[in-house]
Amino acid sequence: MSIKLNSGHEMPLVGFGCWKLENKIAADQVYDAIKTGYRLFDEAQDYGNEKEVGDGIKHAIDDGLTSREELFITSKLWNSYHDPKNVELALDRILSDLKLEYLDLFLIHFPIAQKFVSFDEKYPPGFYCGDGGNFHFENIPLLDTWHAMEKLVEKGKVKSIGISNFNGSLIYDLLRGAKIPPAVLQIEHHPYLQQERLIEWVQSQGIAVTAYSSFGPLSFVELENKKAIDAPKLFEHDTIKRIAANHGKTCAQVLLRWSTQRNIAVIPKSSKQERAIENLEVNKFNLTDDDIKEIKKLDKGLRFNDPWDWNHIPVFI
Ligand code: NAD
Repeated sequence: MSIKLNSGHEMPLVGFGCWKLENKIAADQVYDAIKTGYRLFDEAQDYGNEKEVGDGIKHAIDDGLTSREELFITSKLWNSYHDPKNVELALDRILSDLKLEYLDLFLIHFPIAQKFVSFDEKYPPGFYCGDGGNFHFENIPLLDTWHAMEKLVEKGKVKSIGISNFNGSLIYDLLRGAKIPPAVLQIEHHPYLQQERLIEWVQSQGIAVTAYSSFGPLSFVELENKKAIDAPKLFEHDTIKRIAANHGKTCAQVLLRWSTQRNIAVIPKSSKQERAIENLEVNKFNLTDDDIKEIKKLDKGLRFNDPWDWNHIPVFI
């Protein structure tokens, strides 16, 4: 199953997330995921594993498991490269690491322009802005970065472009000046952070939505995120457990299906083969209206990936 993007391309509804995929096993994991049937891989410069993921993709193509045309590869422009003169430079580094000629989807990772850091100084730079742990920013309006992204589509280096971690007013403003509208918005989305109005409005604008961190706190506990540690785990939540038991499915499948049933793509990461299969097979059942009403009651506006927590950056306040 796939979503037809406003760029004319098709994006699979279920993909494989590459954040925190360990470098030493990433190539094999990606190879195995392709063997299992995954065709969408969600990458980012910031994940620091694009070379290894690229090795896995190349190995699978060389072995005839898939072809480049069958795959849908996403990556994301990191905050340090928002200056229009650095956007293509950043993409070229991504393509070289992934060993690809083009990306299917290139997203602005966050609506935040950190100070440029050269590849030689640190790659990927993460929050490093050239001065220890101190943040420094560049005065680059998002529309300038966006126009540089549009040029990459014109050059054929990227099929579709999109955004991640943008709020409604930033998207509203971007659409005022964009020549190519964003094809996709990727956001944190789980029962504790449902963002119903944002999703409804974005989809009404013809922009597809991809959910990340579909299992809520789970992914952030290992990062010692206090909000995640304190939150009740969704896999142990009575509502999710009851719905899963009623359908003879796992809690993970209920959480993923809750998104895909509303045409929201999901990109769970799993290093375990049986879970990767379980996650890929989520579209074989339907939640009932009552299930969806029950899940709606779990919304707490609880966000785990918030730039406010990095350095009081006010994206979501
Ligand atoms: P996730 O919600 O996919 O959770 C991952 C965790 O769930 C892992 O610990 C994994 O072992 C476990 N898991 C996976 N499948 C399971 C199953 N069937 N049963 C039990 N446990 C299971 O979290 P995530 O990694 O935060 O998000 C998924 C992807 O989204 C990332 O890999 C990345 O590609 C993307 N992402 C994007 C952003 C962004 O800023 N755009 C931020 C975070 C994540």
